[in-house]
Amino acid sequence: MQQLFTIFGNPVSHSKSPLMHNLTFQGLNYNGVYTRYKLEDGSQLRQKFFDLNISGANITVPHKEYAFEACDELDEFAKKVGAVNTIVKKDGKLYGYNTDAPGFLKALSEFKESKKILFLGAGGTAQSTSIILRDAGYDITLLNRSAKRLKRYQLDGFKTYTFDSFKYKEEFDLIVNMTSAGLEDESLPCPIEILEQLVPKAKAFVDVIYGKETPFLKFAKQHNIPTKDGSDMLLYQGIIAFEQFTNHQFSFDEIKEYMQKAFTI
Ligand code: NDP
Repeated sequence: MQQLFTIFGNPVSHSKSPLMHNLTFQGLNYNGVYTRYKLEDGSQLRQKFFDLNISGANITVPHKEYAFEACDELDEFAKKVGAVNTIVKKDGKLYGYNTDAPGFLKALSEFKESKKILFLGAGGTAQSTSIILRDAGYDITLLNRSAKRLKRYQLDGFKTYTFDSFKYKEEFDLIVNMTSAGLEDESLPCPIEILEQLVPKAKAFVDVIYGKETPFLKFAKQHNIPTKDGSDMLLYQGIIAFEQFTNHQFSFDEIKEYMQKAFTI
């Protein structure tokens, strides 16, 4: 019987996930189909999952915390970070995983020597990725527009700054845009004066936004700094989700062969 998969979020019309997963189902001859579902009220997620007889789903902005609440079982990492972006139904129970963070860790593997990282932004994506990167030996500092979101990071032992308290003398290997600045507007994630101070020591500027050149990446290019956008993170989180959807029947590289075609169409 054909299995149904979906992405829940709001908005979801721009999402590449249906293309990524459908190309892979087709390529690997797996009897699955992946659709998209615009969900306005995140508290309905669990009910929709069962009503629509869905086998597995990805969850995107703004419902990752609801997804966490919707699950019967959580893997250790999802439990630790409090955010779920992948749910699989097994024997009538919902199992939750976070594949964004391992996806980002994998995407950074080309920068293994760049251990000192500055995150611009302190939202949900920054939360899970900061923890996995620290566990992998990176040194993460967070700089955020408002102080409120930084509290939980301080409690977790991370070094944090707001724009006002940022010490200009600090040096970082990688500067990562973890905000949504530049996604639907033309804003930088922090004042340009801060970015200018970071230029001399930065080995690369990395953005989690994909599919467009953000003002942040444009700035880096103007200063001849290597850049990387969020496409690899998207691809790798998708591969890891697909492994869960299909119960590890296929290897990472087998999945990658088909899923990466979504980025050439
Ligand atoms: P959240 O809403 O949880 O957090 C948003 C963060 O961005 C906050 O720190 C907020 O600061 C900051 N911010 C928003 N607008 C601005 C601005 N104009 N200037 C400065 N700071 C700003 O978002 P998420 O963590 O869920 O998502 C962050 C980004 O990650 C999104 O762009 C999303 O598309 C991307 N993403 C990419 C993935 C991929 O696979 N490539 C996977 C998951 C996410 P404040 O606290 O001051 O409001």
